[in-house]
Formats: sequence, structure tokens, C-alpha cells
Amino acid sequence: MKKVKIDRLYGNETIKKYIEDRINGGNLFHAVILSGKEGNGKSTLAKQIISAIACRSQIAPCGQCDACKKILNDECVDIHIIKLPEGRSFVPIDSVRAIYDTVAYKPNDLDFKVYLIQKGDKMLPQAQNALLKLLEEPPENVYFFILCEDEKKLLPTIRSRCEVFRLQEFSAEELLKYLQDNYEYGDHKAASSLAQGSLGLAVKMLSGDDPAIKRRQISDRLVELLLDRSVSEFEFIAFQYENIKSLQELFEIYKLLLSALRDILAAKESDSAELLYYENTEKLDDYANRYSSFTLASMCKAMLDVLSNEAVNTRLPLTITGASSKLWDMKFNGEK
Ligand SMILES: [Zn+2]
Repeated sequence: MKKVKIDRLYGNETIKKYIEDRINGGNLFHAVILSGKEGNGKSTLAKQIISAIACRSQIAPCGQCDACKKILNDECVDIHIIKLPEGRSFVPIDSVRAIYDTVAYKPNDLDFKVYLIQKGDKMLPQAQNALLKLLEEPPENVYFFILCEDEKKLLPTIRSRCEVFRLQEFSAEELLKYLQDNYEYGDHKAASSLAQGSLGLAVKMLSGDDPAIKRRQISDRLVELLLDRSVSEFEFIAFQYENIKSLQELFEIYKLLLSALRDILAAKESDSAELLYYENTEKLDDYANRYSSFTLASMCKAMLDVLSNEAVNTRLPLTITGASSKLWDMKFNGEK
């Protein structure tokens, strides 16, 4: 007899154990709601459950057999995916009604069929009611998966017909550990603190695909350059010319730079300052010792001035040189 082991989903131990026991006991659910943040494994878990049911290996899902491979590679014709159409805010009722057209047909690759609704909480009540009829009288050998970020947006009548699993959110520390264990390169700390509990987002950010992480990396570097006495104003400006491509990006980065400076100043004034930018005080103590509170406060003031003139600054190079020259004035005048 086969034994189910869900192993491709990170964390979520209680949920995995429960699902394994249910499938091992042949006590299957025909409708499941998987709820959780973007990037926290809803699709992964759905595929794991589907392949666990389909796989005939001793330990399932094996990931190697035809059924497992097709399911993992999104090539299984018996899994019908209902998507949120691009540019639309809601899953159209027609997409749900279309299920009725195919639900009675026999499966091809597997012994069963699956309907997987990707953004279940984007179904308006009408669409949900159309789905409800199917859940009330489920056709044989058909499984429904409803993925959503907030299961409370689903009608109570839908929820009561499904098994509901709320996937784990990860703390910044848990994400940090995961990234450090699994990825060698990148700014693990920034990615884990910016990902807001989402594992998928943290990985995306670490790989540098995310604009937010890029801005953060640039602003980290600006802090280093600004607070280094051996760096010239010219170098500071040249770095910005090279790395910042639009005014909008520049202002986003200057906002980050301002919160970093504010943290450094706050750390200098108090041991228990609440930090906005930095995760911990590791780098802060070093930075805080480099310049006086007066100079740091003046730099903050200079950044505030630049940011408050966001509307009148229309040219990127001029804004960069203007802001940099203000900061350099503070850097030297403050220390006299
Ligand atoms: Zn298999």
C-alpha cells in the first residue's frame, strides 16, 4: 500500500501531517480551500495533494512517474485551471459556468479530474453561487481546489462545503533562515525583512528580480558612501548617475536614505530607538559614531528639503547634483 509524504512544501508541518493522514486513510475531501499570502505555497501544496492522490509509487508523490511529472510540469490535461483574466479585477461568472461544460467528461491522464480556481476570493457572489451548485452535488471523481489570499471573502456556504487550510506566514527570522540555508548569494537580510511573511516574495527579492530590493541595495550603498570620509562628492554623484534611471526611482531611494539616516540618528540618541530601516543595530553603531548628531540631523533636513520639492524637480541629473551638494555641505559644515 502506498504511503503519502508531502515533502515539497516548506514549513506548515501540521497541515502536511493532517493531509497525509487523510489521504493515507482513503478519507478524501473533494473540495479544498487553500488560503494564504501570495508566494506561500498554495499552488505547490495543491499539486502535492493532486499528485499524492494520482501517484501509484510506494511513497507518493514520487515526482518521477508519468502522473507526477505531468502534474508538476503543469501538463496534465485533467487539471483545469480557472484564472483571473489579465487586466480584470474579478473572475468572470462565465469562467465558472464553463466548468459545467466539461465536468461530466471522463478524465484522460488520471483517474480523476481537478478544477483549480486560482484567485478564489476574486469571484463575485454570483460566480461563487454558480460554483456552489457543483460543490453541493459533487460529480464523482472530481476535486475542487480554491486558492485565495483571504478565505473570508468566500461565501460561508462555500466555506462550509470545503476543507479550509490556512497556510503559514513566516516571520522575518524564519525567512532569513530559509534564505541562508538555501541560497548562497544575495542580501538575505533585506529580502527577508521586505518580503512581509511571503516565502516566494523573499526568494524573488533575493534574486534581484524585485525593484524594491534593488532600491534598497542602492540606498544601502548611498549610506555607506555618504558616511565615508574618504569618498568624494563626485563619487557619490557618479554612483547615482550609473544606478538610478528615473526621477521616480530616485525619490523612492531618497525616501529610503532618509529613513536610514533617521535610524542612525535615533540609534545615536537612544539605545532603544524604534528602527524604521535597519533590522538590527549591527551596522548602526558603526555609522552612528562617524558623524555628530548635529550633522546627521542636518543631513536628514537636507533630504527632507529635496523630497518636499519633488514636484518642482523635473530633471534627474540636476536633482541628483542638487541633493548631493546639499548633503556634502552638511557633511563638512556640520563638523566645523
Ligand atoms: Zn509518482
